[in-house]
Amino acid sequence: MRIYADNAATTRVSKSAVNAMLPYFEEIYGNPSSLNTTGQIAAEALGKLRCEIAELINAKPQEIYFTSGGSEADNQAIITAAKTGEKKGKKHIISTKFEHHAVLHTLNKLEKEGFEITLIDVNENGVVKAEDVEKAIREDTALVTVMFANNEIGTVQPIAEIGEICRNKGVIFHTDAVQAAGHIAIDVEALKVDMLSVSAHKFHGPKGVGFLYCRKGIYLRNLIEGGAQERGKRAGTENLPGIAGMTAAMKEAVEKIDENAKKLIPLRNRLIEGLEKIPHSRVNGDKEKRLPGNVNICFEGIEGESLLLLLDEKGIEASSGSACTSGSLDPSHVLLSIGLPHDVAHGSLRLTISEENTVEEMDYIISSVTEVVDYLRQISPVWEELQKGTREYIL
Ligand SMILES: *Cc1c(COP(=O)(O)O)cnc(C)c1O
Repeated sequence: MRIYADNAATTRVSKSAVNAMLPYFEEIYGNPSSLNTTGQIAAEALGKLRCEIAELINAKPQEIYFTSGGSEADNQAIITAAKTGEKKGKKHIISTKFEHHAVLHTLNKLEKEGFEITLIDVNENGVVKAEDVEKAIREDTALVTVMFANNEIGTVQPIAEIGEICRNKGVIFHTDAVQAAGHIAIDVEALKVDMLSVSAHKFHGPKGVGFLYCRKGIYLRNLIEGGAQERGKRAGTENLPGIAGMTAAMKEAVEKIDENAKKLIPLRNRLIEGLEKIPHSRVNGDKEKRLPGNVNICFEGIEGESLLLLLDEKGIEASSGSACTSGSLDPSHVLLSIGLPHDVAHGSLRLTISEENTVEEMDYIISSVTEVVDYLRQISPVWEELQKGTREYIL
């Protein structure tokens, strides 16, 4: 038995996405920039897909720019807003401590170029306060970028409130909605966001494709030089099969948002309740303001990596921290941002389930994790100290 519970890292491509992609390999293979018939058939298809994507987030087709995924969309949004601000003498950017590295590393780069970055603290439940964003806004603030839902602890941020604040203050607002898209309803008008990043492979679409929504009236800069694709804002022949797969997957996910949440939330809560029974554990992130499929929990006295390997032997595929940081010895910046000490942050487990998972699988995960944590504690020198009383429990 293999139980896949790593859907925040990536998802299985849905049947409808695969089927939507197939004609674009052998039939509609033209280059949308070509004036010949095959090219024009591809161009027409691309236009139609753009309209369909736009409709799913209540945007206009001209506001959608296809990219190679979430990282590129984040980079383009942030660099664009920074350079636009710089022209007006605005070199201050506001973000949060627990963003994805596609955002944080881009901000680091801008800091080296002379921008001033304010990273707002998140509270111990992993939620940003809109009023903290408001307080941080200055005359020279060029951009606010706050993620929609966190990729490690699944917490959902008050995007509409932050959008309202930024709109009133005339500051550009970007949100990395990669974990939210297809899982939580998105309406760019209601949320008052100016830029929003999406990636297909987080909602059962293919990898290497995504899009950036950029509100009409906000000047977008291109990162890649070349042809005039995407109205000159993103050179490179369009990934038409990918875009078709993304559109089909997103349509399906958006149509089923409520149905999937109804199925996932009880599974997630069952998992949380079962795992919380393990002594000296703590669920990370707000239990209500949370993605339907995310469970993140720490166990004192053990290493997350050993837990993952032993769970994998039992057929359970989970994760510890984000896929990008696993492999490094630093504990997750997200867990540190919500105030977990290093020692505890090392013993974290992320299980991200999908609507394909079952109740039986949840129960198997609970019994396996309980067993493995118990085993690891028996051989842990830290646990021995805790038990003897020469070290104090944190959890
Ligand atoms: C996965 C992810 C990204 C990166 O998206 P890619 O398409 O893999 O480049 C960015 N932000 C968040 C929150 C993510 O979860």
